[in-house]
This record gives sequence, C-alpha cells and structure tokens, in this order.
Amino acid sequence: MPLMDIDTIARGLKGATKSGQGYVAPCPAHDDHKPSLKISEKDGKILVYCHAGCTQDQVVGALKDRGLAALAP
Ligand SMILES: [Zn+2]
Repeated sequence: MPLMDIDTIARGLKGATKSGQGYVAPCPAHDDHKPSLKISEKDGKILVYCHAGCTQDQVVGALKDRGLAALAP
C-alpha cells in the first residue's frame, strides 16, 4: 500500500488546519471536539500525535477505517 502524504490525510479529516510544517485536526480515534491531533512529517515518515492520549496505533486504526491508511509502521 503506498504511503499517503499528510495533505491527503488532512483533506480526509474534517476540520484539519495547517500548523507549521504539518496539520492539526480533530482526532478520529476519540470523540474530539477540538483539534487534538497533530499530523507531521519527519524524514519521510508520517507522525500522528493525539494530545488527548490516543496511541499512534489507535489513531492509525481510525484513519484506516476512514480509508486514510498507509502510515509507515
Ligand atoms: Zn485522540
């Protein structure tokens, strides 16, 4: 499965906004009402970080459910 870029992921998440080199967006892995999820890219790898405490696995799983899969392991 090809890697997606963060622009594609951000477009698929409602309410994503650009923040520095990456994006912030409502976290798809929990019931989020503010942009808790930070999406960034480092050394060609996409990093996701939820400030509410979801693990990367949970966030990646939720992205996959939305057809936004394909983060590097
Ligand atoms: Zn979360």
